[in-house]
Amino acid sequence: MTKLKMEVVTPDRKVLSKEVESLIVPAYEGYLGVLPKHAPLVTNLGIGVVTFKAEGSEEKMAVSGGFMEVRDDNVSIMADTAELSGEIDVERAKRAEERARERLKKRSPDLDFIRAERALKRAIARQEAAGVKK
Ligand code: ATP
Repeated sequence: MTKLKMEVVTPDRKVLSKEVESLIVPAYEGYLGVLPKHAPLVTNLGIGVVTFKAEGSEEKMAVSGGFMEVRDDNVSIMADTAELSGEIDVERAKRAEERARERLKKRSPDLDFIRAERALKRAIARQEAAGVKK
């Protein structure tokens, strides 16, 4: 069966290079599935969980921002941040979620709403990817 060559990098590091059967990514406008022989595509990424299947088992990673290119069964994900499920510090993500929720609740006049919302989304995505939320 044809496979996809999936590569994930961030500005800091190479996160993953793996042959996969399929993946689902948080594209900017919603989740998008990619199978072998997918049409060429470039899309922005939102904040969420990438789920990929390799040798029948499913793995997850959290990503935020950046973009994905699909071409000739090669999938390149260039994300602002990306962590594999096993790399995620769940307690740190919970603390980040708590901080973001507090900021959003207080609504202080200098609140950067978009920034706080993004931090909240990253914290939730990390917990989902680590398997401790939803
Ligand atoms: P925090 O407030 O906990 O730093 P953040 O959402 O502001 O969270 P980012 O700016 O998105 O953090 O990420 C900074 C770096 O730390 C990135 O390299 C990212 O992969 C890593 N990182 C952030 N949160 C976690 C986590 N919970 N577990 C593992 N790595 C993390």
